[in-house]
Amino acid sequence: MNESLSEKTLEELQTLLAGWGEPKFRAGQVYAWLSKGVRPEDMTNLPKTLRERLSTLPYGGARIYDKRLSEKDGTIKYLFALEDGNLVEGVLMRYAYGNTLCISTQVGCRMGCAFCASTLEGCVRNLTAGEMLGFISCVEADVPHQADAVRTVTNIVLMGSGEPLDNYDNVVRFLRMVSDEKGKNISPRNISLSTCGLVPKLLRFTEEAPHVTLSVSLHAPNNTVRDQIMPVNHTYPMEQLLAAAKNYAEKTGRRVIFEYALIDGLNSDKAAADELADKLRAINCHVNLIPLNHVEERNLRGVTRKQAEQFMAWLDKRHISATIRREMGSDIQGACGQLRRSVLQNIEKGESGT
Ligand code: SAH
Repeated sequence: MNESLSEKTLEELQTLLAGWGEPKFRAGQVYAWLSKGVRPEDMTNLPKTLRERLSTLPYGGARIYDKRLSEKDGTIKYLFALEDGNLVEGVLMRYAYGNTLCISTQVGCRMGCAFCASTLEGCVRNLTAGEMLGFISCVEADVPHQADAVRTVTNIVLMGSGEPLDNYDNVVRFLRMVSDEKGKNISPRNISLSTCGLVPKLLRFTEEAPHVTLSVSLHAPNNTVRDQIMPVNHTYPMEQLLAAAKNYAEKTGRRVIFEYALIDGLNSDKAAADELADKLRAINCHVNLIPLNHVEERNLRGVTRKQAEQFMAWLDKRHISATIRREMGSDIQGACGQLRRSVLQNIEKGESGT
């Protein structure tokens, strides 16, 4: 899968260009262009013959197909088109400290979580590292950075559609490349990866990947509840997942974030808060309480702001730090999978003439 130009490392370019008889410094020039998302025809400091030769390789990458700007908070929801015509989402969120880009790792998802729109039609395919890097380049070309900032995208969260650890090799390659000082140079400190809990992959990731912030989508205080909403829990039950998360916290010295979407009548009462607190006590962690985004096809309801605050207070009483996630881009279908689905449905409608 690593044939596309947009995902070649500097070393791979050196080998390729040496094989073409190019002088050594050319690889660095090409790599610098590629990390800005520039295509061969626009690599102005290269001889025409080299540009043409590079153009014969598949590029990979992405381009912007559609975007929506939130009037409320400046969030931009992107729909990116890939070379094979697939569409995937990304979201740029604006904060005082910089901008966070939420990136998808697969077209669709095969994890089957009961509350999630990304998984409704299964997984179409994995995204390549070059495509994930391409999302950043697209956004940086689309949104100029502010005068006092070095770049537009300062932080990355792998929290879009897809399960990152189900696309392990491409995701690890992406993380290495995006944090390369000669490339996009985004520090692993500013990157988060969110997983639903593929335990063996998480253990491997702990040992061999750059140490990013780990988020775990927990959403339940016990196996009985988690089994109902997250099929992955049948394979890797909560005890195994919590042990792997604890291991990550200990090996990396980083606090693990547990994501917990509050669902009415399922995981949001005092007994759930108490049970959750007991299970998380021994882990260096923080709980991110998420207001459930309503997905039309799913019959689950979120809780009120007041209920969320109550849940947070119950955790706090048991010394578990928690916050309620700010909802961003709620007016532009900010939640995972929603924009892609609505655009695909419109395309289908258009084509069938209804
Ligand atoms: N597969 C990874 C990455 C997806 S990240 C994972 O499961 O962590 C997206 C986050 O949004 C996950 O925590 C996911 O559980 C959550 N999510 C999905 N659908 C949601 C919804 N309708 N409302 C609130 N959160 C949702």
